[in-house]
Amino acid sequence: MTEPIVRVADLHKTYVSEKGDHIALAGVSFDVAAGEVVAIVGPSGSGKTTTLRAIAGLLEPSSGRVEVGGRPVAGEPPQEVGFVFQDYSRSLLPWLSVLGNVTLPLRSKGVPAAQARASAREALDAVGLAGRERAHPRELSGGMQQRVAIARAIAYEPELLLMDEPFASVDAQTRMDLEDLVLPLRDRFGVTIVFVTHDVDEAVYLSDRIVVLSAPPSVVSRIVDVPLPLPREQHRTKEDPLFARLRGEVLDLVRTPALQKGA
Ligand code: ADP
Ligand code: MG
Repeated sequence: MTEPIVRVADLHKTYVSEKGDHIALAGVSFDVAAGEVVAIVGPSGSGKTTTLRAIAGLLEPSSGRVEVGGRPVAGEPPQEVGFVFQDYSRSLLPWLSVLGNVTLPLRSKGVPAAQARASAREALDAVGLAGRERAHPRELSGGMQQRVAIARAIAYEPELLLMDEPFASVDAQTRMDLEDLVLPLRDRFGVTIVFVTHDVDEAVYLSDRIVVLSAPPSVVSRIVDVPLPLPREQHRTKEDPLFARLRGEVLDLVRTPALQKGA
């Protein structure tokens, strides 16, 4: 087997505060292979964001190991990782154009201007925003702004794209449109994708595998394979009896505390 691109091994995180210690993660372990799309689901407060931030190098684990590309993640975000947050309205710089927002991180990594613009245009094309390069964020809908955030994250072609509830703040129709960007991004850029969602349908629809976290103190209650055929399509895929079975399996795990530990 080839080396996994992400290795999370016995990850523990205890948040220490004046109100007392909170054990968020109590030994979370899973691997992600290159080119996979993996969803992390679990009840609210189960440490999904904590896990993703640890992979991104944005958070110091209490113990355990996180490796990206075979190297331990130590204190700073690895170069090869792109990150998309839930709240698009706070993630873009309002005084920069769409193109400016997407080229900025490339320029700050030392990519020459012409090359940065070419990469940004390619990324904007991949998220359906070709022709909107000169717009400013406030002129765009929420869904469009999140497309810009995704373009910014993939423009330097990271090996790994991490997204925390990326589609939770948009309406249902827009959400489907944004969901349908994800797998083509994997195909076009060869990027590995790990994303957090509280929407079990979304997890099943988009993933190769689903990591289900238990209630805190959290462990992995199960890793569910999703062998639904590709390409996925909103109606056809969701009418597949296998979709219904997987959805039921994951929902039971997320909702039934008794099933969560050691299942
Ligand atoms: P999820 O994304 O699954 O909803 P989080 O990873 O955000 O869960 O949080 C897991 C638990 O850790 C929650 O109970 C949350 O309140 C707590 N938590 C998260 N961040 C902090 C922090 N900086 N300080 C203290 N507690 C935190
Ligand atoms: Mg969260």
